Amino acid sequence: MAKKSTNAYAEYSFFQSVESSFDKAAKFTNYEQGLLEQIKACNSVYQMRFPVKIGGKIEVIEAYRVQHSHHKLPCKGGIRYSMGVNQDEVMALASLMTYKCATVNVPFGGGKGGIKIDPKKYTVDELERITRRYAAELIKKNFIGPGTDVPAPDYGSGEREMGWILDTYTSMKPGEIDAAGCITGKAISQGGVRGRKEATGLGVFYGVRELCNVPEDMKKLGLTTGIEGKRVAVQGLGNVGYHAAYFFQKHGAILVALSEMEGTIYNPKGLDVDAVFKCKQETGSILNYKGATKTTKKASDVLEADCDILIPAALENVIDINNAGKIKAKIIGEAANGPLTPEADEILIKKGAVVIPDMYLNAGGVTVSYFEWLKNLSHVRYGRMEKRFQENNHNAMLKTVEEMTGKKVSAAERAVIAHGPDEVDLVYSGLEDTMIGSFHEIREVYKAHKKIDDMRTAAFVNAINKIGESYLQLGIFP
Ligand code: GLU
Repeated sequence: MAKKSTNAYAEYSFFQSVESSFDKAAKFTNYEQGLLEQIKACNSVYQMRFPVKIGGKIEVIEAYRVQHSHHKLPCKGGIRYSMGVNQDEVMALASLMTYKCATVNVPFGGGKGGIKIDPKKYTVDELERITRRYAAELIKKNFIGPGTDVPAPDYGSGEREMGWILDTYTSMKPGEIDAAGCITGKAISQGGVRGRKEATGLGVFYGVRELCNVPEDMKKLGLTTGIEGKRVAVQGLGNVGYHAAYFFQKHGAILVALSEMEGTIYNPKGLDVDAVFKCKQETGSILNYKGATKTTKKASDVLEADCDILIPAALENVIDINNAGKIKAKIIGEAANGPLTPEADEILIKKGAVVIPDMYLNAGGVTVSYFEWLKNLSHVRYGRMEKRFQENNHNAMLKTVEEMTGKKVSAAERAVIAHGPDEVDLVYSGLEDTMIGSFHEIREVYKAHKKIDDMRTAAFVNAINKIGESYLQLGIFP
């Protein structure tokens, strides 16, 4: 049996918990057992140990890359840098990537990588050596490449690490024209796409907003329609949590509680996420934030905050049998991967809360990674060809309207109407459309099956149907 996850909150095999949600949903599909087993299984698991010179001594690093499904290629998924990394965790995360990509119609199989280190304990030089060696191991075994497997950032990694991996890849594969597509989440100057950094948090916002915009669903929860004025609590101010909080605040929600490793801060009238973030950077702790009415030294307290919407944006299994009953939020938006154990899921369903599942809600990151990959293969920035053409067209149209009506549009109106799309406009628009479209696909499955009582099961059914269909159309290679 796979080893349990070792993160501080875990008491559950993460992979088993994903399997258990899959099995619950599989009952609502018509595929034969063998095919379901194939969809569920991790196709390739690469466990590695490699030496790196740290402070003049040799250190053996434990790392993984898992390709969960090859029904579509390349495989796709981030690389986690954390002491909690183990085979079970990477397998679970890779399988979630498969369902995630199917949910948002991104034509990739799921993958995930992990390096078992605490990145804070290493210098930048040492981290670079570890990352480059990990990339070289992937290249040697054909576990990376624009058509085979495309990693991205995850917990503990970012643009900087993606740059090192790209450079290692291009050094070892000289002349490969599509090499930039071997990795996403790169800096823009290295072929990254505008909007990728905030994509997961923005996707979380779009997804929760979509639910809040359905009057029927809000009435059932006893909440008003719309995002404005909703009380939101966010666990974790990493890249995903920070951006989710930022977009909620920007669109009129009230951030009543925020947490980081060191504890939780509250203010029923609202916390300013940028000021809290600045305080963390300057003093090392959000607990020093002057605008809080209450602080506690427990990071997990945020989960029990009095709020309408709870956004766990940290690690897996943080809501379990012990604290699920204490959650006051009516909407739980899974910004992290796997923040709820299956038992917690059941408790929250019984309480009548809506859990918006990770495989849908945090898929904004991989959606925009897909846009980045397409950009890399086409070797041109989004909007480069059409922006000016569209602006000229819009201005000509405005001129005709002005001549026909004898009235002038204001400079502010002209700026909005004539504006041709920049890369970031197109990326946001593609992401918004994806999050809205996928929400309603899942909701339709939910509505169509009277016995499905939660959104996660509906999302799994939706994803399994797409993957199953793909397997059947391809046939089984002898
Ligand atoms: N690590 C992110 C996730 O879990 C992004 C994956 C990607 O962009 O490939 O979804």
